Amino acid sequence: MNPLFINFIYIISAALFIFGLKMLSSPATARRGNLLSSLGMLIAIIVTLMNAGLDYKWIFLGILIGSGIGAFVAIRVEMTSMPEMVALFNGFGGISSLLLAWAEYHQNREMSVFIAIVAFLSAFIGGVTFSGSMVAFGKLSGKITQKAVVFKGQHIMNAVILGTALVAAAIFCITPASVFGYVLFALILVVALGFGVTSTIPIGGADMPVVISLLNSYSGIAACAAGFVISNNILIVAGALVGASGIILTNIMCKAMNRSLANVLFSGFGSTTAVQTGDGPQGEVRPASAEDVYYILEAADSVAFVPGYGLAVAQAQHAVKELGDLLEANDTEVSYAIHPVAGRMPGHMNVLLAEANVPYDQLVEMDDINPRMDSVDVCVVIGANDVVNPAALDDESSPIYGMPIIETHRAKTVIVLKRSMNPGFAGIQNALFFAENARMYFGDAKASIQALVAEFKND
Ligand code: NDP
Repeated sequence: MNPLFINFIYIISAALFIFGLKMLSSPATARRGNLLSSLGMLIAIIVTLMNAGLDYKWIFLGILIGSGIGAFVAIRVEMTSMPEMVALFNGFGGISSLLLAWAEYHQNREMSVFIAIVAFLSAFIGGVTFSGSMVAFGKLSGKITQKAVVFKGQHIMNAVILGTALVAAAIFCITPASVFGYVLFALILVVALGFGVTSTIPIGGADMPVVISLLNSYSGIAACAAGFVISNNILIVAGALVGASGIILTNIMCKAMNRSLANVLFSGFGSTTAVQTGDGPQGEVRPASAEDVYYILEAADSVAFVPGYGLAVAQAQHAVKELGDLLEANDTEVSYAIHPVAGRMPGHMNVLLAEANVPYDQLVEMDDINPRMDSVDVCVVIGANDVVNPAALDDESSPIYGMPIIETHRAKTVIVLKRSMNPGFAGIQNALFFAENARMYFGDAKASIQALVAEFKND
């Protein structure tokens, strides 16, 4: 195939990726963005394989099998298991880059220093991504302990492993074709797979979304390096886009938690020793019944729902939408205030509410609702805890101090739906629950909201 034609098609694919990514930034256009990017990838794959001289039959068969597996998994996966699935996919991306670099090296060991360097990067980062993603998958799916596994000398051990890989890589890159070349390459593969495990186990289960986003970035960088190994322009572009967007998302998540990436990766947050057990303010809470909450909501002019991880656990999104509709029918202004790290993955709440067909224009970001919080009649906090904890604003000793929160404590009334007084992910008690304007409505969020819906319907 004419290289000019191939590169022309690659430019079209790259443009589709970029437009698709841009469209992912709004829930209203995200689905179309996803389709557009997928189309770009399909075109790129077909042209690349045809250029490689592969028979149409094989291309078609490969697409059929791959799409079949993808569709099957995507249809079956529960919304709450989405982070695990992303972890698996990242892992597959990583292992592809590793295998590609290995295959290239196996075929042609007389590589230039530059190609040896990118082959090392592709194999090493791909290997770390694969085994790290498998650990992340295991932690999120509960197949291995969710706790941060920390022990003395762990950082030194990881530094030694990384150092070994770098020394092996330096010798390998200078003399890839030497007798020891293959041995060094094999050592690099083993060390990469080991390092993925040892660098991921010290991170607690609830921090896994940040890790997955970081691993996503790694898988992009590995693919980009693989693109250089086989001189494939679209692989370089696609890998660079994934690498950059993954690191941007990682940064957004760290900022929203007011934690540095180093703190997420190395502090052992989520180990038994690092997380406190419900320390913090204590006092009298004011429990409320479904009937009490109904009267408060019925009289409100504006209601803001503030969902958190408990919404996902209870799968209460459809019930919340039903309650929202009933409130609107009662002439109440309804909105849904979303914190960037509510739940356990970025966009977790947006995805759940979209599943329940909550209109996008009712979703409000934290920075938009906080300035007008004093005028909100009722905030209904549904299974959120850390993201509404005022300690983040005024308690310097708190582990979440400095994290931006949705300031529900400033609303006229706050109703908190949760099952008990147990703390959230950060392991600290929440002063909001004891505030003058707060009422605790205990129970599973879905059952509690269904009880409110029944109260409205019986009215
Ligand atoms: P939290 O983990 O702080 O709190 C969730 C609350 O939900 C708990 O207090 C729990 O209380 C309640 N809950 C659980 N199940 C139910 C149920 N069935 N019905 C009613 N309530 C329930 O969640 P937030 O969303 O407020 O905060 C997210 C936390 O996760 C933050 O600390 C954030 O930093 C962290 N994090 C988030 C990431 C992301 O990408 N979103 C990434 C990494 C970390 P009870 O047991 O009493 O019911």
